[in-house]
Amino acid sequence: PSPLGPTPKLVIDLERLQQLPKDKAGPLARYAATIQSQRGDYNGKVLSIRQEDLRSLAVIYDKSPSELTEELIGWGVLDPEARRAVEAF
Ligand code: C2E
Ligand code: C2E
Ligand code: C2E
Repeated sequence: PSPLGPTPKLVIDLERLQQLPKDKAGPLARYAATIQSQRGDYNGKVLSIRQEDLRSLAVIYDKSPSELTEELIGWGVLDPEARRAVEAF
């Protein structure tokens, strides 16, 4: 096991996401809304997503998963801890 502990989860900050301009955040916001709807999980301030979903989102944003992760950290939507989740890909 890693000395830093288990692989962290990818946790989307939904409140921060709502504050971002639609041209940037639109695809991620729609993706997150779809997952919330599939789970029936509407009341959260955050949403834990699958690692596989970050891969899909990277395709949508035409970036590598690590590039997209950096962008989402820059927007304040992902915690910097998320870097370790993506290194595990
Ligand atoms: P599914 O993938 O067949 O999962 C069925 C149920 O197994 C889920 O119902 C959930 O209770 C549990 N489950 C599956 N994977 C996980 C996991 O990694 N962690 C946890 N805690 N539970 C898990 P739920 O949540 O009502 O989701 C229903 C369906 O909605 C899922 O069926 C899947 O098709 C979709 N879905 C939900 N959340 C996600 C997501 O984060 N990403 C993707 N790609 N699909 C999701
Ligand atoms: P955690 O994973 O560190 O999550 C902490 C809190 O963040 C959760 O408290 C919840 O308020 C919020 N949160 C995280 N991901 C989501 C999400 O996808 N949707 C929503 N609506 N909220 C989210 P909560 O619910 O009291 O859970 C406390 C702890 O219990 C979690 O800490 C986790 O360790 C465990 N837990 C809860 N649900 C699951 C689950 O589906 N799978 C697993 N493996 N653990 C869970
Ligand atoms: P988690 O619930 O703590 O699950 C951690 C990891 O255990 C998942 O990482 C996945 O690799 C595995 N896992 C847990 N439950 C299942 C399951 O029912 N089927 C399979 N095939 N694998 C499972 P992953 O996929 O990266 O998901 C990260 C987190 O996203 C999960 O943490 C959970 O908080 C959330 N999540 C993912 N899928 C679902 C879902 O379908 N429903 C709900 N409610 N939460 C989900």
